[in-house]
Amino acid sequence: MELAKQIIEGNRTALGLGITLLESTLPEHVKQAQDLITVCLPYSGKSIRIGVTGVPGVGKSTFIESFGKLLTSQGKKVAVLAIDPTSERTHGSILGDKSRMHELAADENAFIRPSPSSGTLGGVANKTRESIILCEAAGFEIILIETVGVGQSETTVSYLVDFFLLLMLSGAGDELQGIKRGIMELADALAISKADGDNITNAKNAALAYTRALHLFPAMENGWTPQVSTCSALENIGVLEIFETINNFDTQMISSGWKNENRKNQNNYWLHHLVKEELGSKKYNLFLAEGKLKLLEKELIKGISIYQLLSKL
Ligand code: GDP
Repeated sequence: MELAKQIIEGNRTALGLGITLLESTLPEHVKQAQDLITVCLPYSGKSIRIGVTGVPGVGKSTFIESFGKLLTSQGKKVAVLAIDPTSERTHGSILGDKSRMHELAADENAFIRPSPSSGTLGGVANKTRESIILCEAAGFEIILIETVGVGQSETTVSYLVDFFLLLMLSGAGDELQGIKRGIMELADALAISKADGDNITNAKNAALAYTRALHLFPAMENGWTPQVSTCSALENIGVLEIFETINNFDTQMISSGWKNENRKNQNNYWLHHLVKEELGSKKYNLFLAEGKLKLLEKELIKGISIYQLLSKL
């Protein structure tokens, strides 16, 4: 398959075309897209998948631009994908927009793709899951998934990423308000953004307040203690430190085996989700009761694509 070959060679145009194919609903494209994933799957997996979330205006795209450029300057290949749960309503993707990250977009070691603009949150996230496979096959080592912090989307994105970074604004005395507890529980790191100029003290105070608040949360299953820091994407302060935190996390989670285990659980989540969505809950419950899904989970570990497995049902 020529397109797959070009993607695996790292051709960004081919990668873009491949993702367009994934997003298409035309029956012949659906088949081609699934074949493409099957070919790319053995080349995927070798990346750090990072979720970046926060309310609109917190500075996500500015942060991703600064963070991304830092990494590409170290020779790393960075892909930015986006999940915009509001795109259905606004008829367009507001995230992962190239015009908001123009320097990174022009960087030959970066690849930026806006959110698929139609479908349910689960459907959009599943397209992103498949896009991650293509990006990794194309040699991208750092995959950033940008999502807007409105609640529901974070839980879904947490099934796609290894590490979750939550950007927060300081000030207005509302440090612990306005952000849902559930989102904080998912965060592996919390960074108070815009820590520059007059805002430095505010940001530091907010970081202290969040550090205290996080102590009250139950310990994370993987043994990781969420890190709180301040950063200024505009002045490139604290951005490198966040990458170091993520790298430490990755090293620890590889050696403890959690990274693999978590990805396996995530794949199972999508398998169950897709069986339910494609075949309906009646059939899903039947397959569950018959133990068929357990068998498919075992096949999934061997690196077979979920759609290939669905076609066996
Ligand atoms: P997003 O909606 O979360 O993607 O936020 P943007 O990245 O678009 O940033 C929103 C606004 O905050 C813009 O006007 C940015 O210039 C500003 N901003 C972003 N990062 C920083 C920062 O580190 N320091 C300051 N002072 N302003 C920032």
